[in-house]
Amino acid sequence: MSDELFFAAAAIEPGAAAKGAGFLKPFEAAAAGHNVAERDKPSLIGRTREELAQALTVIGVPQQQRKMRVAQLWHWLYVRGVSSFADMSNLSREFRALLAQHFTIIRPEIAAEQLSTDGTRKWLLRFPARGAGRPVEVETVYIPEEGRGTLCVSSQVGCTLTCSFCHTGTQRLVRNLTAEEILAQFLVAKDCLGDFADQEGLNGVRARREGIAKIRTLAERRAQMPAAALADAAEESEKAILLAATGRKITNIVMMGMGEPLYNFEAVKKALLIASDGEGLSLSRRRITLSTSGVVPGIYRIGAELGVMLAISLHAVNDELRNMLVPINKKYPLAELMAACRNYPGVSNARRITFEYVMLRDVNDSVADAKKLVQLLKGIPAKINLIPFNPWPGTNYQCSDWRQIELFADILNKAGYSSPIRAPRGRDIMAACGQLKSASERLKKAEREALEER
Ligand code: SAH
Ligand code: SF4
Repeated sequence: MSDELFFAAAAIEPGAAAKGAGFLKPFEAAAAGHNVAERDKPSLIGRTREELAQALTVIGVPQQQRKMRVAQLWHWLYVRGVSSFADMSNLSREFRALLAQHFTIIRPEIAAEQLSTDGTRKWLLRFPARGAGRPVEVETVYIPEEGRGTLCVSSQVGCTLTCSFCHTGTQRLVRNLTAEEILAQFLVAKDCLGDFADQEGLNGVRARREGIAKIRTLAERRAQMPAAALADAAEESEKAILLAATGRKITNIVMMGMGEPLYNFEAVKKALLIASDGEGLSLSRRRITLSTSGVVPGIYRIGAELGVMLAISLHAVNDELRNMLVPINKKYPLAELMAACRNYPGVSNARRITFEYVMLRDVNDSVADAKKLVQLLKGIPAKINLIPFNPWPGTNYQCSDWRQIELFADILNKAGYSSPIRAPRGRDIMAACGQLKSASERLKKAEREALEER
């Protein structure tokens, strides 16, 4: 990694980073000076409306005011994106002070921020220990593309699973993230990108302009497209329209960062419900994709209880190989996984399931594998993301040859599946699929207890 990519390595006070300014407002300056105490207070981020009402009850807000207060807080937290009670200008000074006395809405610390030559950004965020013995760190990645911006969010520090080609899989699970911490990744990214209504400014204008330009080119291209490509083009246009209309920088969230989201089910569900809430962050569930290695019971539950888009890390077309690459396959073999996909609520040509397939040289990339994949997906509205393997220090796998990847994609395309070859993004800053890993280590129980006693 070159020095200029690493443009903010020191711990940055989040308020300052969020505002992109060199000085703090008086209230924030005070908070910065008392960060440790501030971070120890219970946070109001990531709570349901009922839980917020409950928190207000505890500090003595009368029952008849609670609903209104919750609505006000919700708006400030998730529409305006403030990270200090002092900025909630329509609340009385006394009420703001009362809130600040008991709670916090401070952002997590940004331990490092890196920018790839291709525009991909990666943040290393630091969260309090919460039982892990010492503070933990996770990575969040923003991938800007023409007409959309995708935020790749982590659900766990490390992972309990050990997919053999995945860097995160070499980091033991340190702990699950809380709903607050999952949501905070979204909020920090929005801060840094100026993506809240109040911060929109020039970014928003630029994004809107880009969106309009994109709609024009797409319309021209669509006129000459074969039918199979039209569904994708329609999806692209829709994204561009959203961008143009809202000027949003983050148009999509993918739960594809560190960890297996379905092994942290409740927190992920809660965070995504808040992210998609129409009176707050308002990201449509169709723009949220949850990726799983194949936790079958979790797939049924997420379909019934949340209804976001589903991505499956498939990577192999027979049980023998999948057992090796994605060991959870031993617990939930392919037949069960495919049945869960067939039964996923709302699946249609407009709401296809994404199958991720990492291209590993001489392991899963033969013509026979491609043909078997076509058979396996029969009857499931699907698209296949072919991911060139991203190397990491110590791996024995290699990425398939480009010609082989194209051959593989051709077979899928001819069978009627859209199968884009994912251009690796952010490899120079280790931000690409499967490269994420933080230095957080799991402490032994004795070490943890010794630290907590201090
Ligand atoms: N744990 C979830 C979410 C992680 S998503 C899951 O496994 O689905 C990250 C995606 O990148 C998954 O499809 C994963 O299988 C894939 N991946 C992991 N390591 C990779 C690597 N080194 N190169 C390319 N893709 C990788
Ligand atoms: Fe965990 Fe997903 Fe990596 Fe497998 S691919 S080790 S489930 S993060």
